[in-house]
Amino acid sequence: KSCSLSDIEISRAQTPKPIDQLAAEIGLLPEELEPYGRSKAKVRLSLLDRLHSQPDGKYILVAGITPTPLGEGKSTVTIGLVQAMSAHLKLNSFACLRQPSQGPTFGVKGGAAGGGYAQVIPMEEFNLHLTGDIHAITAANNLVAAAIDARMLHEATQSDKALFNRLVPSVNGVRKFSPIQISRLQGLGIHKTDPASLTPQEVSAFARLDLDPSKITWHRVVDTNDRFLRKITVGQASTEKGQTRETGFDIAVASEIMAILALSDNLGDMRGRLGRMVVGTSRSGKPVTAEDLGVSGAVAVLMKDAIKPTLMQTLEGTPVFVHAGPFANIAHGNSSVLADKLALKLVGQDGFVVTEAGFGADIGMEKFFNIKCRASGLKPNVVVLVATVRALKMHGGGPNVSAGAPLPREYIDENLSLVARGCRSNLRKQIQIAKLFGVPVVVALNAFRTDTPAEIDLVCQIAKECGASDAVSCQHWSQGGRGCLELALAVKEAARQPTNFQFLYNTEVVEKIRTIAQKVYGADDIEVSPEVQRKIDYYNHQGYGSLPICMAKTHLSLSHMPDKKGAPTGFVLPIRDIRASVGAGFIYPLVGTQLVFQGQLKDSDLDLCSFFKQINCVGIF
Ligand code: ADP
Repeated sequence: KSCSLSDIEISRAQTPKPIDQLAAEIGLLPEELEPYGRSKAKVRLSLLDRLHSQPDGKYILVAGITPTPLGEGKSTVTIGLVQAMSAHLKLNSFACLRQPSQGPTFGVKGGAAGGGYAQVIPMEEFNLHLTGDIHAITAANNLVAAAIDARMLHEATQSDKALFNRLVPSVNGVRKFSPIQISRLQGLGIHKTDPASLTPQEVSAFARLDLDPSKITWHRVVDTNDRFLRKITVGQASTEKGQTRETGFDIAVASEIMAILALSDNLGDMRGRLGRMVVGTSRSGKPVTAEDLGVSGAVAVLMKDAIKPTLMQTLEGTPVFVHAGPFANIAHGNSSVLADKLALKLVGQDGFVVTEAGFGADIGMEKFFNIKCRASGLKPNVVVLVATVRALKMHGGGPNVSAGAPLPREYIDENLSLVARGCRSNLRKQIQIAKLFGVPVVVALNAFRTDTPAEIDLVCQIAKECGASDAVSCQHWSQGGRGCLELALAVKEAARQPTNFQFLYNTEVVEKIRTIAQKVYGADDIEVSPEVQRKIDYYNHQGYGSLPICMAKTHLSLSHMPDKKGAPTGFVLPIRDIRASVGAGFIYPLVGTQLVFQGQLKDSDLDLCSFFKQINCVGIF
């Protein structure tokens, strides 16, 4: 790669092939494709029925060492690997990636289409609206929010009878319950189907959700770092009759609906999960769901196109699915189950699907195994663990770097002792975590210009000593797929090994959290406050105790302390709070005290954002 070319210049120098041509190349029928313009298309789920009896390809997960500000390059490795496999080794392969949020895209992180000569194109379309899935999630999420406030207003200002008549309107003089209303009545212990036969007490029980305004957990969302919306007061118009309430906005991709999109297996499954979403608690302490509000059918309709993955292509014309983008913190940080399933069928049994997990392996990969694979029933064949010499040096004790400051000499000059210490701490631990699940690991050293041959050899040698099946350096960023051939061959070889994939836990809530803390993070134990224990007891009582755990922990350390690099030991993991995403199907403990809660809108860094700079430099605006 010539240093003078930016990622967007490389992206724009390549003309994408027409999307219907790519679709035909990978075996899609014209009627299975819904084009959005010339370079992207949604793929219909009917494909799964057509290819039902086709054996799946090999399932490869790309994860990383603990992230540092120096970058690891999981997305570029994912794309470089499929470019090498498809375009150079002529193996059927697919990349499955998350759709980025506009929050990070217009924030300091920039886009997520890869970089250098390993990118998904066109970059602007990948990074921005794509096919509107995030907009659909925003609309669906805010419909639920609107229903909550409208319901509370009506309950505060109307009689039981008036509420009932509003919920069960008379059509041609006849009132009839919908099937959903009948199942809600049954949940209340009322086994009647004729609205006229309800007693006044039953009318009241049916009509009133009696939401406690201080226990509403549902927020509105927007896909921009619009910091002034983090805390707002709603209901200030005179028509809202004094029903004001403090609430706030989260970033759209933090909506539970995004996690549901990523974990759903089909439209019916998604509909069920949307109905189970808990929006708050009633004054008598009962969870109130989207189904109780009567909006989940409408929410499912809003999501009917979003459930279909979007087909795009790499710089070398190989296929990519972009679908769903839950954060790796309060959610599970993986692209969709459906995209992976479609891709595994499309590549066939000799092919490869490469999917990516967010953050370090202790978070994204652990959740991929324990949450996503549990939901999908799919079994991974190989983990590709991405590392860089620079990041390993930081884990080995190299100095911190601050944004915009020149890189310290340690990261530019050869320094074998820092590299060795980083490998023997963080890299070793992340390899061990992958192996806990019974899956072989190939280490991909994403090569930077400053790496020396001795540093590269040292990483590969120690990685193998620590249990990796293989370890190779890759030059996809500067050379595209050609620079990733060695990795592609190593992955192909590792995928031949038998796996012994297993989940890490199958116990009760506290024991599940302790297992992750001790076996994955290396903690001595966990600390659960009486308040957290009370919530766990409540979740058990509600029947949520069997859900998997989605730890909301800093991604910057294996521990809860972001500045502790390497592989910290001798710590007790504090569980500060615990919440449930019942529709998505996980419980998420909030770990540590310094966690920046990732659902929140970030401080606005719009003026120094890298994506703005990229698009400005080639004069889009
Ligand atoms: P991650 O998926 O781990 O967040 P990405 O693959 O998105 O990381 O890469 C982050 C950034 O680092 C991108 O802008 C990419 O161009 C850059 N990058 C990745 N690998 C290299 C490399 N080998 N040399 C230089 N820059 C790189």
